[in-house]
Amino acid sequence: MGLSKTIWSNPTEYLRTQKPEDPVLFFAPSIAQAAARHFIDGFPGMVTYAVKSNPGEAMVENLVAAGITGFDCASPHEIDLIRRLAPGTAIHYNNPVRARHEIAHAVSRKVKSYSVDSHSELQKLIEMVPAEGCEISVRFKLPVAGAAYNFGAKFGATVEVAAELLKTVAAAGFIPSVTFHPGTQCTDPHAWEAYIREAATIARMAGVKIARLNVGGGFPNHRLAAVVPQLDETFSLIDRVATEAFGADRPALVCEPGRALCGDAFAIADRVKALRDDAHVFLNDGVYGALNELPMIGVIDRHSVLSPEGALRKGAPVPRVVFGPTCDSVDRLPGEIMLPDDLAEGDYLVWEASGSYSFATNTRFNGFGDLQLVTVLSLTL
Ligand SMILES: *Cc1c(COP(=O)(O)O)cnc(C)c1O
Repeated sequence: MGLSKTIWSNPTEYLRTQKPEDPVLFFAPSIAQAAARHFIDGFPGMVTYAVKSNPGEAMVENLVAAGITGFDCASPHEIDLIRRLAPGTAIHYNNPVRARHEIAHAVSRKVKSYSVDSHSELQKLIEMVPAEGCEISVRFKLPVAGAAYNFGAKFGATVEVAAELLKTVAAAGFIPSVTFHPGTQCTDPHAWEAYIREAATIARMAGVKIARLNVGGGFPNHRLAAVVPQLDETFSLIDRVATEAFGADRPALVCEPGRALCGDAFAIADRVKALRDDAHVFLNDGVYGALNELPMIGVIDRHSVLSPEGALRKGAPVPRVVFGPTCDSVDRLPGEIMLPDDLAEGDYLVWEASGSYSFATNTRFNGFGDLQLVTVLSLTL
C-alpha cells in the first residue's frame, strides 16, 4: 500500500465527493512523522518500529523520513520489506521461535539482533548465526498488569530460565541483552517498572553485564477520548527506573512501539449498508476486516457519523448493535455502540485512531475487505 496519488484535505472531503462503497483507510503522514519525532526526542534510547502493527509501505517510508533507524521484524517477509524500503537501518528479529530456514534467511540478510526465550531456540541460533558483532536478547515474562491482554501467555522465559539463557549467550560470544514486551495499549506507565527491575535481577543472577535492554512495545495510542496516552510520563519513568535498577551497569535502552507510532495516523471510514428494521446497524466492514482488533481490546470511542453529504450527525447517542458484512454470526462488534439517533443508511462511520492491527489483519473473508488507502493532510473531519 503506497500513498494515494491524490492527496485530500481530510476524510470529509473525500467521502462527500467520492461516496466510496468499500471501507477506506485514511492516512495522514504528518501525524505518523510527528509520533516518530515524539518518540525520538523523548525516549531515552533507540526507537525501533514494530512492523507487524502496520506494514504499509507509506507508513514505513514516513517513519524513515522522520528519522527512525531500526525495525522490529517477526518474519522473513518483514525482513525483506525493511531491507527494500529502509536499507541501512537495523533489523531486530524479535520473534523468539523461528524455523531453521527463517534463521538462515535472516543471516543471509545480515540481521544482527535476535531475541530468544528457550534453550532449544537458543541452540539453533548458536549453531546457525555467526556470533561476531551479533546481539542475542533474552526475552523474559512476568505476570501482567496494565496491558490490554496477556502477551506473556505465549512468549518469555521465567526469570530463572532467562538468567541461564543469558549466561549461555555471553559464553557463546554473542552480545548479551535482555528484552521484554509488557503487552499492548499499556495506559499505565508503571507497566514497565517491574520488568525493568526484574531485568536487572536477571543480569545479576547471570553475572552478565548486558549491552542493551529492549523495553518492548505496548505504548498506547489515543483510542478513548478520556484516556490520553501519557508518553512523556512513561519515558521519564523508564529512564529513572533503568538508572535505579542498574546503577553503573545501566545498559543502552531500546523500545519497539507499534501502535503508538501508527495508530493515531489513520482513520477508517465504513459505510452503513443497512439499518435493519430501524435497529441493527450493518457496516461494510467488521471483525474479519479492518475492525479485527476491537473484540480483543475494546471499541474505540473516538468515532463520528457523517451523512453522505459530509455533515456530522449530531443526534442524541443511542446504543446500537453493530454487525459486519459477512454471513458469520461472530462478525459483530462487542456490546452495543453509542451512535447518533439520526444515523441513516448510506452514512459513514469514521473510527479515529485506527492505524494499528487494522489494515494488517484485514481479510477477504466472504469476498469483503476491499480496503483502500487514501492520503489526507489532516484527519480532522
Ligand atoms: C507486537 C509487538 C510489539 C508492538 O506492540 P504495540 O503494542 O503495537 O506497541 C513490540 N514488540 C514485540 C515483541 C511484539 O510482539
